[in-house]
Amino acid sequence: MGAELGKYKSCVSARSTDKAILAGAQDGGIVTTLFAYALEEGIIDGAIVAGPGDMPWKPRPMIATTYEELMAARGTKYNISPNVSFIKEATRSYGLDKVGIVGTPCQMQAVRKGQLYPIGLRDVSDKIALAVGIFCMENFPYQSIVQLAEDHAAMKLESVKKMEIGKGKFTFMSERGAVVPLPLKVTHKYEQPGCHVCLDYVANLADVSCGSVGSPDGWSTVFVRSKKGDDIWAKSVAAGCFETKAIDSVKPGLELVTKLANEKIGKNQKTVEERKTFGVGKGLRIPYI
Ligand code: FAD
Ligand code: SF4
Repeated sequence: MGAELGKYKSCVSARSTDKAILAGAQDGGIVTTLFAYALEEGIIDGAIVAGPGDMPWKPRPMIATTYEELMAARGTKYNISPNVSFIKEATRSYGLDKVGIVGTPCQMQAVRKGQLYPIGLRDVSDKIALAVGIFCMENFPYQSIVQLAEDHAAMKLESVKKMEIGKGKFTFMSERGAVVPLPLKVTHKYEQPGCHVCLDYVANLADVSCGSVGSPDGWSTVFVRSKKGDDIWAKSVAAGCFETKAIDSVKPGLELVTKLANEKIGKNQKTVEERKTFGVGKGLRIPYI
């Protein structure tokens, strides 16, 4: 495998052993379970997650300091939750010294940039105790989500129970059991244009990153990347928080993750090159913090 998957120490297919977490998690409940373990062990004293906002499926960053708060923020919201903008809030208003944060690959880049060049994050860069990345092919403006749900899937957003992108479809599931898969060729034009110059699929800069792709339904593919991530992951597995399987023992496995990462990078690199021809390079992109 090449650079498309970033550096990692190990990769497994995993699932939480906490049935309550799994019941409302997006995939294998990796993010919620890892933060719950880290909170309980005092590795973090709070985590910045994408909590519920005022409008259905429009997340608002939230600082979770309890298991219940982590539970309330489970599941993927396919629009921006500006979690990085809450780092200062977490340290200054909440007084956290050990902050957990979850985010998309671009948000993990912003966290690391903030740690390296802490212009806007003075005094907080050493307080990031656990950065968990989630894989990301594309994201959507909130208005796109409204249109996709209401115009294409014929569902009111408030009645949507879960959204899922996978196997070439963007699927809307309602509280009453309706399932409406939309082909990605329909949803592409609703994507956030900034995502078309993004060259990271699997959150290369996270301590631990995870996503559904590569693993069977209900399981997650987990990359353990940093020394810190390795230590926390190993302890959480030893504590019985996760069931794990070797990644080469599951289908479709890393082959599909690699294929999709290459597709994303190849397609978006082309857009970067095109933009350079009229003087707008990747450098001008503002990450979704
Ligand atoms: P859970 O235990 O359910 O927890 C999810 C955590 O993520 C929660 O803490 C929640 O607050 C946080 N979260 C939810 N939405 C956001 C958000 N918008 N921004 C920041 N944090 C958030 N996986 C793939 O395998 N392939 C993909 O192409 C892919 N695309 C994605 C695109 C987007 C825009 C997002 C947000 C996620 C995407 N994922 C993708 C990741 C996947 O949907 C799950 O989020 C991931 O597998 C974690 O699942 P889990 O069961 O471990 O998490
Ligand atoms: Fe995902 Fe990249 Fe878009 Fe960020 S810029 S939301 S990582 S596709």
